[in-house]
Amino acid sequence: MNTIVDAEKIEFLLNDKSVPSSGDVYSVIEKAKKLKGLSLEDVSILINAGNEGIAFDEILTAAQEVKETCFGKRIVLFAPLYLTSECINNCLYCGFSKDNKETARNTLSKDEVIREAGYLEKMGFNRLLLVAGESPKSSSIEKIEETVRAIYDHTDVRIVHVNAAPMTLENLKRLKKSGIGVYQVFQETYHEETYQKVHASGPKRDYQKRLQALDLAMEAGLDDVGIGALLGLYDWRFEVMAVVSHATHLFRKYDAWPHTISVPRLQPAVGSPILSPPYEVTDRDFKLICAIYRLAVPTAGVVVSTREPEALRDEVLKCGVSQISAGSRTDPGGYSQDDEHYDASQFKTNDHRSLEEMVEHIAKSGDLPSLCTSCYRVGRTGPVFTDSVSHEEMARYCLPNSLLTLKEFTLDHANGSRKLCEAVIEKNISNIEDEKLRKATVKKLADIEQGKRDLFF
Ligand code: SAM
Ligand code: SF4
Repeated sequence: MNTIVDAEKIEFLLNDKSVPSSGDVYSVIEKAKKLKGLSLEDVSILINAGNEGIAFDEILTAAQEVKETCFGKRIVLFAPLYLTSECINNCLYCGFSKDNKETARNTLSKDEVIREAGYLEKMGFNRLLLVAGESPKSSSIEKIEETVRAIYDHTDVRIVHVNAAPMTLENLKRLKKSGIGVYQVFQETYHEETYQKVHASGPKRDYQKRLQALDLAMEAGLDDVGIGALLGLYDWRFEVMAVVSHATHLFRKYDAWPHTISVPRLQPAVGSPILSPPYEVTDRDFKLICAIYRLAVPTAGVVVSTREPEALRDEVLKCGVSQISAGSRTDPGGYSQDDEHYDASQFKTNDHRSLEEMVEHIAKSGDLPSLCTSCYRVGRTGPVFTDSVSHEEMARYCLPNSLLTLKEFTLDHANGSRKLCEAVIEKNISNIEDEKLRKATVKKLADIEQGKRDLFF
C-alpha cells in the first residue's frame, strides 16, 4: 500500500454513493471545528453531501468559521514572478511544454529579475512566488539561487516562495539555504493512469518521484511545503481525497500539515493539446473543494490564483480561502511590459484586478488585506506553525501583523484606497483583545507613520 495516497481506499469510498443525512454532515463539521483534521471517510461524507445539495451552505459557512478561528479575518496577498518558460517536459495542458511551437520562450536575466521584482515591490507586494519551467540550464539550482539572492539584495521583497520541479536532496538543502519560504510542487493529478497520459515525456513522467518530492523537501529542512492538484484533469472527487491523503501523510510523518494547498483549475494555454478540462469542475464544485480543504486541513493556507474569475474569487474568500494572488502575469518579463503577451503565457488569467483593487475589495467586504511575511522570518514554520494554528494561537499575530503591513501599504503604495485603509486600521485596532499587544501595535503603527518599516510580531 502506498502510504502517501491510498488509491484503492479512495476508489472504495468514492464507490459508496450513499446519501449522507444532514446529521452525518453536522458531526463532520463539528469534528472539523476541533482543528485536528478529517479522515477520508469524513471527506467522502462532505463530497457526497455537497453533490446532493445536503447542507451545502452550512459546509461553506463552517469552512469560513474554521478559517477565521485559525487566521482571523486576514487574507494574504502575493504575486507570482515567472523566471523561465523553457521546459524539457511535455505536460499536455501547459503552455510551456517542450513541443509547444506556438509559445514565445523567455528566461529572465538577473537584471530582468530585479526589474520585475522591483515593479511588484513598487505595487506593494512583500511576498513573491517564483515560478519556473523545468530546464537544466534556465532553472538550475544555481540560477534559482542567483535569482532569489538578486531579489533579496536588490529589492525590499521580504519572502520568496518557489514553485519548481522536484530536486535532489542536495539541491533542496541549497534551496533552503537561499532563504526561501514555501516550496511548492503540485502533483497535478494523483490518478496514476491519468498522470501517465497527460505527462507525455520528460522527467516529470515519473509519478512516484513527484509524489515523494515534498518528503524529500521536508528532509532537507524545507518544512513549509505546498501541495495541490490541477483540477480538471481527472474526477475532482478523487483528487480532493488524494490531496487530503497527501496532507495527512505529511502531518503524520513530520508533525506539520502542508503550509499551503493550492486550488489551480485548468485554463486554456495557447498551443496545448488539452485546451479544455477532460473532467468538468463547476464553480459550485470549486467552492465546495475550497471549503473541504479548509475543513480537512485546517492550518493550511488555501490559495486561489488569478486563474479564476473575479466573482468566483470574491465568493471563495468567504468559504475558507486564506491566500490570493493579484495583478498576476504568467509570461516571464510580463510585468515590465504593457500588454499581455498571451502567446508567451503559461495559461490565461481571468482576474485582472491590481493589488490596490484587491486590497480595496477585501477591505470593503469586511476582511483584512495582509502583506505579512512574519512567520517565515521568525521561525514559525513547519511543525511550529501547525502547532500554533491548531491551538488557535496564530490569529492573535495575524491581526496586528495585517494592520502593520496595511499601514505601510497605505503610506507607500495606496492611491485611491488610502482613506478606506486608514479607516479599516483604526476600526480593527480595538479588535486586538490582549491589551499589551494592542498597545504594542499602536506604538508600532506610530513608528511606521514616522518612517520605520518592516515591523511585525
Ligand atoms: N514546472 C514546474 C512544475 O511543473 O512543477 C513548476 C511550475 S508550473 C509552471 C506551475 C503549475 O502551473 C503546475 O504545477 C500546474 O499545476 C499549473 N499549470 C500548468 N498548466 C496550467 C494550465 N493550463 N492551467 C492552469 N494551471 C496550469
Ligand atoms: Fe513544464 Fe511545469 Fe509546464 Fe509541465 S507544468 S510543461 S513541467 S512548466
